[in-house]
Amino acid sequence: ESVQVKELAEKLGVQVSDVITKLIGLGVMATLNQEIDYDTASIIAAEYEYAVEGEVSDIENMEELLEQTYNYVDDEADLKSRPPVVTVMGHVDHGKTSLLDAIRNTNVTNKEAGGITQHIGASTVKINNEKIVFLDTPGHEAFTSMRARGAQITDVAILVVAADDGVMPQTVEAINHSKAAGVPIIVAVNKIDKPAANPDKVKQELTEYGLVPEDWGGDTIFVNVSAKTGEGIEDILEMILLVAEVQELKANPNRRAVGTIIEAKLDKGRGAVATVLVQKGTLSVGDAIITGKTYGRVRAMIDDKGKKIKKAGPSTPVEIIGLSEVPESGDRMYMVEDDKKARYLGEKMKGKHRDAKMKEGQKVSLDNLFDTIQDGQVKELNIIVKADVRGTIEAIKQSLLKLSNEEVRVNPIHGGVGAITESDIMLASASNAIVIGFNVRPTNNAMEIASSEEVDVRTYRVIYNAIEDIKAAIDGMLEPEY
Ligand code: GDP
Repeated sequence: ESVQVKELAEKLGVQVSDVITKLIGLGVMATLNQEIDYDTASIIAAEYEYAVEGEVSDIENMEELLEQTYNYVDDEADLKSRPPVVTVMGHVDHGKTSLLDAIRNTNVTNKEAGGITQHIGASTVKINNEKIVFLDTPGHEAFTSMRARGAQITDVAILVVAADDGVMPQTVEAINHSKAAGVPIIVAVNKIDKPAANPDKVKQELTEYGLVPEDWGGDTIFVNVSAKTGEGIEDILEMILLVAEVQELKANPNRRAVGTIIEAKLDKGRGAVATVLVQKGTLSVGDAIITGKTYGRVRAMIDDKGKKIKKAGPSTPVEIIGLSEVPESGDRMYMVEDDKKARYLGEKMKGKHRDAKMKEGQKVSLDNLFDTIQDGQVKELNIIVKADVRGTIEAIKQSLLKLSNEEVRVNPIHGGVGAITESDIMLASASNAIVIGFNVRPTNNAMEIASSEEVDVRTYRVIYNAIEDIKAAIDGMLEPEY
């Protein structure tokens, strides 16, 4: 992609001669009608801080702005093939972790002497002189939470199914998550070494979910493996390359880097440490970057073998040091012009996050309900009801509806039989609801999440007591809980 010098000046609303002067400053001798490449044009635009301060001064559009400015689409001609990025998914105990370990171990032979696998959140293995990148965190939760944040980094999903156990609930979930993401699936039928292994049964079961093996006329690749004995591990690596080849995965290595944070933590000695998967361009030591609400300069880069490296191209996971704060996994990382720009954009992003957090306000609870109603912050009280029997749920819903007054509408959004689970809490958090339980308790996990998500969970034995509490809360008469 390119733009005429004249056109660029028009777009920026500045004198053409001015643009030409700036171009000369960059060592580009250009005339009025000359085409300059997008990269150069964006440097010029950045000099005017056009894209930043002029066009989008409202920080609402910061993410979009960063995408447009730094994650621009490359010319087809500049694209080079890049290694595939693979996620391992499947039911608990079907062997996801073991398979990842086995894959890394097969690779020990071609590993550089002294190289010890470092846990950085992703690892690179080599087969037939080609690289494959594996995300270290198995399971579709990680995959989905990244996707929920807009980061799709996986090219191929390995679905692990234990041959002695067959398709289980999380197998189906993993299939649905991969399909939703449009990521091709390779099935690893694991634990083939076990006497009870029945790979044909797995094949049979998976056809119900649209995964039909090639030898049965479908187009899904199935590989029998044993993470224990190592059988089939090389085959699966070869199949990944095959599937990746069809996808024609490409990226331009010669541009400013764009990537995604896979993992991040605060390290006592080193400060904020983040693993970034470089997706486009090349990230080098010394580059100024911005990611999430933090920024900095790449002071050092370490690869998954624990080696210090100076440059990381497309599909390379690297641990970086030099960010001012810890970013979140799923955050996009952009390399920007210089430190000044990084600070400028980073501080804007920080401000944006602060604003968003303030706007989000307090989570509703029975204790703060009266005040938040008075402030006009809450006009609806969303309630999730869990009970031991279905009859209770209906009864309580009816009573709750009657509590609505002109200031607040009481709104039962979900009811169910059984313990208060993590997913009830997540639903409550997302819809600013409180959770009430009758003769049921939250699971330990749900309690933990409720506390971190600041979700108010109340349990009762008698419907009357719950109604009284909620009524009192609405009227500002609730006795505080100690
Ligand atoms: P994950 O929960 O999916 O990560 O499963 P793990 O990798 O933790 O494996 C669960 C259990 O199955 C462990 O006890 C493993 O040793 C065992 N296991 C995993 N793969 C195999 C295999 O190929 N053969 C046998 N016999 N056991 C395996």
